[in-house]
Amino acid sequence: MQNAFDKRKEELKEFSEALDKLDIRKKDEVVQKQAPDDLMTKCPKCDRFLVKEELFDNLMVCPYCNNHMRLHAKDRINQIMDKDYEIIFNNLEEKYLDFPDYEKKLNEAKEASGNDESIVCVKGKINGINVLVGVMDSFFMMGSMGSVCGEKVTLMAEKATKENLPLILFTCSGGARMQEGIISLMQMAKTSQAIGKLKEKELYISVLTDPTTGGVSASFAALADITLAEPNALIGFAGKRVIERTIKEVLPKEFQTAEFNLEKGYIDKIVKRKDLKETLANLLKLHRYN
Ligand SMILES: [Zn+2]
Repeated sequence: MQNAFDKRKEELKEFSEALDKLDIRKKDEVVQKQAPDDLMTKCPKCDRFLVKEELFDNLMVCPYCNNHMRLHAKDRINQIMDKDYEIIFNNLEEKYLDFPDYEKKLNEAKEASGNDESIVCVKGKINGINVLVGVMDSFFMMGSMGSVCGEKVTLMAEKATKENLPLILFTCSGGARMQEGIISLMQMAKTSQAIGKLKEKELYISVLTDPTTGGVSASFAALADITLAEPNALIGFAGKRVIERTIKEVLPKEFQTAEFNLEKGYIDKIVKRKDLKETLANLLKLHRYN
């Protein structure tokens, strides 16, 4: 009997090895072998394979399903700004490093994203109009807001107020940065008061991108004179499952999408990535900026 089992096991092993040689079991693996990682990527929404260079030229929007993929801050800045912008408020010193391994995580995030923090701030022009722009980056600790991020947003709002410039913030965040505890939560109040002062004098536009959640969605992302969003962006405060468990109700499928928030009046307009620069320039012109 034992011999029969061993024989069967041997046969299965041989069959398995033969399949490996044929490369027919895992279709994705086969395609990946034909298409090297540095040339191809896969749309996380529709699973189709895409040529990286073409995807980049298409502003990281999937041509098949219109999925607006997450962008590195610097790519967003290059899409939106005229050439010759200046990066400002870079390399602010982080003071609250007590949480275990936080400093190590920060250094890893800096390396992974190429940014000094979860937001990159620039001064420059959009279609020739002077503007201050801040762009959050999900590749830096999921765009979490700590003291440096909060300080940068505050400094941007103060600079815009002082220099009579409009402010545009692209939000993308998992929320407050847990490693900084209460200090990160304080950034909600700090940024909100600076934005409040700015709005007495100048225009503030926020562009909500995927995902805008937690403390960021509950502070400066929600306080703009004009709130835009990218298609299908996840926008909400707490996670859908947390809410469902708390209120013991099933939420609609489209809950926390940009489209749902537009319907409920939280967002003024959903703008496709390819139309964003033009839309922002038109809004600035309409509000006397030139
Ligand atoms: Zn797709």
